[in-house]
Amino acid sequence: MKPLDRRQWLCHAGRAAGVMGMVAAGTGAMGLASAQQAAVAFDPLDLARARELIAQAQRSEVAWRLVRELAEGIGARPAGSEGDRRAVAWAQQALRGLGLQNVHTQRIELNVWQRGPGSARLLPAGQGGGAPREMVMAGLGNSISTPAEGLQAEVAWYPSLAALMEEPADPTRSRANGRIVFIDQKTERARDGSGYGRSVGARLNGPVEAARRGAVAFGLRSVGTSGGSAPEGAPTNAQRDAQRIAHTGATRYDLRVKPIPAFAVSVPDADVIAARVAQGEALQVHLRMDNRSDVPAATHNVIGEVPGTDLAQEVVMIGAHLDSWDLGQGAVDDGAGVAIVSAAAGLIAQARLRPRRTIRVVLFANEENGFDGAIAYGKAYAQVPHQLVAESDFGGGRIYRLASRVQLAALPLFAQMAEVLKPLGVEPGDNNGNPGPDAAFLMRSQKWPGLALSQDGTRYFDVHHTERDTIDQLDPTDLQQNTAAWAATAWLAAQAPLSFSPVPLR
Ligand SMILES: [Zn+2]
Repeated sequence: MKPLDRRQWLCHAGRAAGVMGMVAAGTGAMGLASAQQAAVAFDPLDLARARELIAQAQRSEVAWRLVRELAEGIGARPAGSEGDRRAVAWAQQALRGLGLQNVHTQRIELNVWQRGPGSARLLPAGQGGGAPREMVMAGLGNSISTPAEGLQAEVAWYPSLAALMEEPADPTRSRANGRIVFIDQKTERARDGSGYGRSVGARLNGPVEAARRGAVAFGLRSVGTSGGSAPEGAPTNAQRDAQRIAHTGATRYDLRVKPIPAFAVSVPDADVIAARVAQGEALQVHLRMDNRSDVPAATHNVIGEVPGTDLAQEVVMIGAHLDSWDLGQGAVDDGAGVAIVSAAAGLIAQARLRPRRTIRVVLFANEENGFDGAIAYGKAYAQVPHQLVAESDFGGGRIYRLASRVQLAALPLFAQMAEVLKPLGVEPGDNNGNPGPDAAFLMRSQKWPGLALSQDGTRYFDVHHTERDTIDQLDPTDLQQNTAAWAATAWLAAQAPLSFSPVPLR
């Protein structure tokens, strides 16, 4: 059948939008009957340009170059650190070099936490126990210090946070009282990262719950999937030792509850604790940490744009976070995302495409320990209409799904977008997408629509928040696939014939 002139029925898009929920668009040519229902579709020229961007991205080395500069050239960059200052300077230069305009920063003053030396030694509590063991540990972000000489106490072992919380929040009625609570919750490997979602609560809420029950310190099995992937048979001791890495990450305190020191141990060390507890051995831990809290500092969001034309006042925000934890190089979390969204916008700028809406790259400050960048961005731009917010913050794994969080009338456009991404191995998702941490915060607080390009996170939590978060964990070809998907979706969102607002929030 002969395709209709899309421009003709675009004029009627507003009026017919109400009946659009039922229409599945996305095929090339539409029959007359369905065209009477259909109202909203991309200009075929814009779809063709999106396909060109995909082809260019798959030949581009830019994302790989960017992440190497950031991860290898600068490395760890927790907010307010020297690495962070260098990353902010680098990012401005990088965005300008890619042809973005209005490159600027947004200054944020904050108090930061700084890690000092730490150790955790496992000791038998009585006669006949196993040998002392120096564990591989990492203090949790925001953890207070121990006394200078350290602290030592018996271990109260729990299989999960839920098991701890079954005991009353009353020291006289909990076996946590006077002890070091150890939560042994495993993180399951999953493509969508859902295992982390189920285990991270222990890291976030464990210290407060333990303190409510009288604990003097809090430890947990690292929230991550490292340490358990020997391919066949039982791993050798050397293999086990090579897997001993500790995953840090933020925890939090409650002003009404006395803070206690909090740390994670490597998965193999947690296995040793579990085995010795299972044998009925009473264990003690000697813990020492020397961290600094509430250190005044400054950091910056870094912003750059491909300016829009007739709808320039509306923003398509594609983001990532510039900061990282202090361990490793921050290559996977979130150097990859910084490189992907920057390279994607750079492709649009360099192709001299003039988008209708403004495509804005935002490299957020301090996602890891406070969301200060997202909060500041929301305050500064609350009055600016956003077509969508989306963030790449799940490493460099391949994108397998496009999900949305937009008004129902815009769903046919997402079906078309998914069709464009199909050759990249991307499938259409639902309208309940999670656009990434900073973007999700903005979506909820500002009621801006969102978009999610879900990445394969099967291996993401092997190195997440550890010293192994280094450049060798990334695959240049996968970065190209990511860049392609981001460039195409950012472009199409900027060209869309209708607003994605209002966002459906549940
Ligand atoms: Zn991240």
